[in-house]
Amino acid sequence: MSLRALLLERISQTGPLSVAQYMSDCLLHPEFGYYATRDPFGVRGDFTTAPEISQMFGELLGLSLAQAWIDQGRPDPFTLAELGPGRGTLMADLQRATAAVPGFHAAAQIILIEASPTLQQMQADRLATDDPLWTDNVHTLPQAPLFLIANEFFDALPIRQFIREASGWRERLIGAQDGVLAFGLGADAPQPGLAHRLEDTEPGDLVEICDAARPIITGIAERIVAHGGAALLIDYGDWRSLGDTLQAVRHHQKTDPLAEPGQADLTVHVDFEVLAQMAHRTGCAHTRLTPQGVFLERLGITERAQKLAEPLSGSELQSLISAHRRLTHPEEMGNLFKVLGLYPAAANPPPGLEA
Ligand code: SAH
Repeated sequence: MSLRALLLERISQTGPLSVAQYMSDCLLHPEFGYYATRDPFGVRGDFTTAPEISQMFGELLGLSLAQAWIDQGRPDPFTLAELGPGRGTLMADLQRATAAVPGFHAAAQIILIEASPTLQQMQADRLATDDPLWTDNVHTLPQAPLFLIANEFFDALPIRQFIREASGWRERLIGAQDGVLAFGLGADAPQPGLAHRLEDTEPGDLVEICDAARPIITGIAERIVAHGGAALLIDYGDWRSLGDTLQAVRHHQKTDPLAEPGQADLTVHVDFEVLAQMAHRTGCAHTRLTPQGVFLERLGITERAQKLAEPLSGSELQSLISAHRRLTHPEEMGNLFKVLGLYPAAANPPPGLEA
C-alpha cells in the first residue's frame, strides 16, 4: 500500500482532508511519512538547509545564544534545546563553537525535540558525546532557563488554508476526483479565529493558519518569562502571510504538492506575526523580524569566513565563498529567511537582533 492509496481510501470513507491533515500524514505518518522514513538533506537528498551549507551558521547562532546566557548571569543549570534538529549538524557546530565559553557546556542539558525516529538516530550518533535527551514536545521541557534554537522547524508544521468569501470563509480541502487527489472547497462558514484578517484581505484571498505553532511558542515563551533564556527562530516566511505558500520539493525541484504524498518535502511560509503575538501574550519580549543575511553579518560571518579561508585554496576556497554567499546574499537565503528572537522583557535581545 502507498500513502496515496491510504489517503484516497480515508477520503472515500470519511470525506475530504484539511491541508493540515494532509501535511501531517505526508511528513510524519509512521510508515510512509517523508521525515519518518528518510534522511532528506544534502546534495543527494531533496533539499539543503543552512547548517548543512556551512559550519558558520551553527557556530554563529551558538555564540549568540552563549552571549545571551552570559548577559543573563550564566544561569546554571539551563536547558539548551533544539526543535527539529535534522542531522544534528547545527547542534554539533554550536557545541564546538561554545566549547571555549567557560561554564556553558557544564551548565547545559541538551534536549532535542524530534518527531522522526530515523533522524533521532542520526542525532544520537552525531551528538553522542554531548549526552542529549529527547522529549516529545516543549511542554515536557524542564522548568529551567531555556536557550533554544529552531531552524526550518515551523515551516514543517501543518497549516489550514481558508479562502475569503463575501460573508465568511471556505476551507481549502483535499478530496478525490476520478481516483486522484484534488483540491476543493468546504462550506462557507464563519471563522472567529480569522477575524483580524478581515482588515487586510478581500474576497478571493487565501490565508493560512498554523494551529500547531501556538502551543509550541507559548510553551517556550512561558519558560523564558519564568526562568530566563532566549530563543532564536529561523525560517522562511514574513511578518504576515498572505496567499497559498504550500510548496513541495523533491530532488531540489519544486513539484505538485498532491502528486507524490510522502515522497516530497512539504513546507509553508511562516507567519512570524502570530508567533510574536503568542509570545507577547505570555509577557515574553520579541525582537524585530530580521533577515538572516543581516543577522549573520552582524554576528561577524564575514570575519569568520576570512579566518576559515586562510588555509584554503582552489575548489575548497570557492565552496567557502559560495556558502557565505548562499547564507547571506539577498538573492539567495539572506532575505527569504528571517530570524525572530524571544527573550525576557528585562534582558537585552540576543546579539545580532534588535528590540
Ligand atoms: N533544523 C534542521 C532540520 C530542518 S527540517 C536543519 O536546519 O537542517 C525539519 C525538522 O523538523 C526535521 O528534523 C523533522 O523531522 C522535524 N519535525 C518536523 N515536524 C516535527 C514535529 N511536529 N515535531 C518534532 N519534529 C518535527
